[in-house]
Amino acid sequence: MNKTKQKMIMGVDIGGTKIAFALVSSGKMMTPVYKAETPKGEKILSVVSKFYEKFSKKYLIAGIGISTAGMVSDDGQIVGSTGNIPGWQGTKVKEILQKKYRLPVVVENDANAAAYAEYQVGSAKGANPLLMITLGTGVGGGVIVNGKLVRGAHFAGGEIGHIKLSYTKQRLCTCSRYDCFEAYASGNGLLALIKHYFPDKYKSISTRKLFQLTKSKTKDSILAIRAIEDWHFYIALGICNLFHVFDPEKIVLSGGLSEEVDIKCLLQQTKKLFLPALAKSVHIEKSVLGNDAGLLGAALLASQSL
Ligand SMILES: [Zn+2]
Repeated sequence: MNKTKQKMIMGVDIGGTKIAFALVSSGKMMTPVYKAETPKGEKILSVVSKFYEKFSKKYLIAGIGISTAGMVSDDGQIVGSTGNIPGWQGTKVKEILQKKYRLPVVVENDANAAAYAEYQVGSAKGANPLLMITLGTGVGGGVIVNGKLVRGAHFAGGEIGHIKLSYTKQRLCTCSRYDCFEAYASGNGLLALIKHYFPDKYKSISTRKLFQLTKSKTKDSILAIRAIEDWHFYIALGICNLFHVFDPEKIVLSGGLSEEVDIKCLLQQTKKLFLPALAKSVHIEKSVLGNDAGLLGAALLASQSL
């Protein structure tokens, strides 16, 4: 029997340790998410090809959407720092894959792709403007205005992790500059707070343990609560700076650490920082798409170029 193949987009999410693959149709996952380890540099493309060949036996693939760590140019080349994927910078991802498969290929920065998924099918559908903040080991983000990603003139739109929260040169950031939002609000920022509040035993306290300590009803719980309050203040400070630039209708928090954010506490902090007229205009939600957002967003972007 001659089965008609179903038309799909292959969504790919390239991270520092793993690459995730799934087929997507109309913004929905049509297969489970398959994972492979991230090799170095251009070898990533042979892993992508392996999955393409596997999927194309069963389905008609109409396009490829790739979400990746690092800054991406308009023509789909990796142009920005990708410290966690050696040899990836400079790769002309779109050009190579498009030539090979003769299909539309879209390549987008992972945080931007995730923001696009939140806008299309996630917790801030249609919000205009939309600001997404990713809280994890680092801090990333994405900005959508009038339904379009703000990619910027130098492809650094949405790189909100490196706005400055202070001028004190106290916190060193992973970008080797001081006082970036990321240095305060990320997992690394939390480790710095642990060091500050627990100078004698910080080595034995992980970020996860810090959150547990807040509920422990011990002497340490008071210090842990203070540390978490400081962390919320830093996130609020970043939100305040960004809010006053483009006045987002909704703010979405994503990334592993977003689960630990207490929205009520965050709103209390933002109210103290915002201009009074705007204090009630802050709407913050947590992502409902989780780890799949980048893959889904890249596939949605690719489906638009069909
Ligand atoms: Zn930085």
